[in-house]
Amino acid sequence: MLCKKVLAAGEHLEQEDLLFAQKVQRIKQRILLALMILPPLLLAVAIGLGVYCQRLTQTAASLKAQLSQQALNLESSAARLIETQQQLANLQAQQEIREEQLSPEILAYQSAYPGLYVDAAPSVSPSDNTVYLTFDDGPSGNTSALLDVLDKYNVKATFFVVGAQIKGREDILKEVAARGHTIGMHSESHNYKQIYASVDAFLKDYDTLSQRIQDVTGQKPAIFRFPGGSVNGYNQGLYQELIAEMLRRGYTYYDWNVSAQDATTQSKTVTEIADAVSSGVPNHRYSIVLLHDSSLRETTVKAVNQLIPELLENGYHFESLDNAVSPIIFSYK
Ligand code: ZN
Repeated sequence: MLCKKVLAAGEHLEQEDLLFAQKVQRIKQRILLALMILPPLLLAVAIGLGVYCQRLTQTAASLKAQLSQQALNLESSAARLIETQQQLANLQAQQEIREEQLSPEILAYQSAYPGLYVDAAPSVSPSDNTVYLTFDDGPSGNTSALLDVLDKYNVKATFFVVGAQIKGREDILKEVAARGHTIGMHSESHNYKQIYASVDAFLKDYDTLSQRIQDVTGQKPAIFRFPGGSVNGYNQGLYQELIAEMLRRGYTYYDWNVSAQDATTQSKTVTEIADAVSSGVPNHRYSIVLLHDSSLRETTVKAVNQLIPELLENGYHFESLDNAVSPIIFSYK
């Protein structure tokens, strides 16, 4: 019995050992399996992680490059913006300076001399073969003789007078108006340097002259002739502004298309003056003839006495200017 029990106990132990051995064997197999699977798995994971990290690094580098480029672009845009703002500020400053330089003068002379305005007339083209005799620089010691010659042929003419010459000859100027001739303005002082010094200087001179003519004759002149013509060596930088201002004030100015050439230092002969006019007139449909009413030009009076009957005989007729006559004006280079 005891022996049976011992045997049974021994069998039981053997079974347990076997089970234990089997268990150990299974664990060993699992460990071996794990040892076989894990390294490649870890390797694969490591490789995967490595590739992923490399891509991340590349993406980061690319993003960094893009960001630096954008930063550079922004910097350049900001620099351009600052440059543009500076240019704009410079332009504004220049504009302000220009306005400051122009405005006061324009405003000053435009609002000055309120009496120096006339009503502009619509201009009418003269009929063919009309001759307008115009006498600059008077009145003079020769004016009375000249008026008598004009009356002799019943011819009306135009006198562009000088204020300084009117002083002491007021009666002569009255006579010019009374005999139906037109009185236009030429200059108060006839001092080129003085009147062409500025627009204001010119207006001041003309304001005085206009007032003087009105005081003597009761008539307000509406036409004028620039001393030296509308474009001359003294008013080159000023003539456009001067013309614009005088036109704005309603005045009409007349240059000429025929010159009697009687203003030379040495007096021309009667024949030379008369010939200059008679040979010039046929070149134009209508003529505005420049002559001078000066104490130095006695020959002019005699030449007028000669040329009027000549031109009348050749079919020309004479008129005096008024501001409705379409002006002859010099063209600008
Ligand atoms: Zn003159």
